[in-house]
Amino acid sequence: MTHNISIAIHGGAGTILRSTMTPALQLQYENGLQDALHAGYSILAAGGSSLDAVAAAVASLEDFALFNAGKGAVFNSAGKHEMDAAIMNGKTLEAGGVCGVNGIKNPVRLARAVMEHSGHVLLAGMGAEDFARLQGFEFEPDSYFYTEQRYKQWQEALLEGKVQLDHSDKKFGTVGAAALDKDGNLAAATSTGGMTNKKYGRIGDSPIPGAGTYANNKTCAISCTGHGELFIRSVVAYDISCLIEYKGLSLHDACKLVVYDKLVKIGGEGGLVAVDNQGNVSMPFNSEGMYRACRTKDRNEVKIYKD
Ligand code: ASP
Repeated sequence: MTHNISIAIHGGAGTILRSTMTPALQLQYENGLQDALHAGYSILAAGGSSLDAVAAAVASLEDFALFNAGKGAVFNSAGKHEMDAAIMNGKTLEAGGVCGVNGIKNPVRLARAVMEHSGHVLLAGMGAEDFARLQGFEFEPDSYFYTEQRYKQWQEALLEGKVQLDHSDKKFGTVGAAALDKDGNLAAATSTGGMTNKKYGRIGDSPIPGAGTYANNKTCAISCTGHGELFIRSVVAYDISCLIEYKGLSLHDACKLVVYDKLVKIGGEGGLVAVDNQGNVSMPFNSEGMYRACRTKDRNEVKIYKD
């Protein structure tokens, strides 16, 4: 049986205001989303796997400087870029993640290597970088990750002594994808620079299976973006999967309950993209906006604001 292919991607949620957006900048964001959507969808359309599709979509978003992942990763308190990423295979429930890695061009690809070749699920910092060298990953110099916009954000955060999420003053930024392939296999991937000016080796929800990233063929695939601490405490991605598996909720209702009710009650701002095993897509967020896009048998959308 051939399944309906579907993919949904995001470039982060947050206080994205029309008043601070120019038409030219909006077009750049939309083009970045469109390119990533195409990178993932074309793999699915050619009969490729959801795992390859989410990895390609996320790598494309990582290479796009306006999103907080890979090239556009924010600065931490030491002026470095410490990135987190994860990928999960819904067919096997295998998962791989990296936390606090520096110099890796595409952390999502390293997360996949962790899943496929390390015998572990989550590798951190220098250990993850040693593993990357063994796997033949190339390292980029700090200058590759330098962008004027991120440097300014970091300087502002330093002056105010704040730890900041991306996308304006309440900024979330992170990229991710969830997909269903023609064989009915689901996969999800997420990648982030985390929070501007973060310290002490802070890790968010993105690289943690079940929190910011989850995929299970029985239910759905999910990639989250938002205030990581709250998403970890709410085990957001797994909670949605459980509501579908154990309570029989639809993808839409499960997402609604978690994003607009459970998360809101504990002050968890953000959103997610989700695809279920029938190819339905849900992209809820409780923040001002979320960079997002999807393509299914009857949807082809690129959106930023609520409408
Ligand atoms: N969830 C990410 C983190 O807390 C940030 C984001 O989505 O913007 O690291």
